[in-house]
Amino acid sequence: MSLLYQTTGIVLSRRDHKEADRWYSVFTPDKGKVEFLARGGHKPLAKLTPHLEMVAEVELLLIYGRHYQTVAGVERRRAYPGIYTDIAKLTLAHNAMHLVDIGTREHERDPIIYHMLKDWLEFLETAPELSRERSGFLLGTFALKLLSIIGYRPELSGCLSCRRPLVLNQFRWHALKGGVVCDTCVRTDEQQWFSARPINDSTLKLLRFGMGEGFDQQLRVHLTGEDIQGFHNAIESLIISHFPTIPASSIRGACMAV
Ligand SMILES: [Zn+2]
Repeated sequence: MSLLYQTTGIVLSRRDHKEADRWYSVFTPDKGKVEFLARGGHKPLAKLTPHLEMVAEVELLLIYGRHYQTVAGVERRRAYPGIYTDIAKLTLAHNAMHLVDIGTREHERDPIIYHMLKDWLEFLETAPELSRERSGFLLGTFALKLLSIIGYRPELSGCLSCRRPLVLNQFRWHALKGGVVCDTCVRTDEQQWFSARPINDSTLKLLRFGMGEGFDQQLRVHLTGEDIQGFHNAIESLIISHFPTIPASSIRGACMAV
């Protein structure tokens, strides 16, 4: 096996290490999440790191070491000027990458996540100006799709327990069990479902739309205060119940900070 290999990736996060070094986390189509160290002390690498600081798709030359991987080369493959020049889009791009970073483990190959990340960046690149409310909603839909891919696709159409189709406004939400449960099942086994929370029909529709439709379509949805609040509550509860690491700020809070 060669110690040197080439891969494509999207940078998810970076953190300083000692004085001059920096750790990067990238998502690749063929190896999933990969972490590597860029040694700032080596002169040629000081030239490489700027490519790793931007939202971009990059070609990487990585080297397996005894304890960790290091980077030997970076070429930019696709830049996103429409994202860099818009603080709301840039924040949205970074927040989504942070979710992928904390929602996945290293070396678990998942080309679907890679495609979604690419889709997300291409969408943001050409998207119109986004309000905070719209940004929060979009990040929520990203989180929902990511949850589905990593194995926590919420049940939004039939009852989690009896599997019957839902009757209008006669159901509740149970994040840990992953979706909706009908009122009849909640009454039948209160012990089992005691932590189920109210959720209304229009919030459920918003969740279905967010999960099922592409990012472009999410610009068309009319957002009303009560529904969007319910939408965020449902997604936050899923993240808290199922993510390996819980984000420091809420989905909505992350977009409000812009
Ligand atoms: Zn039921």
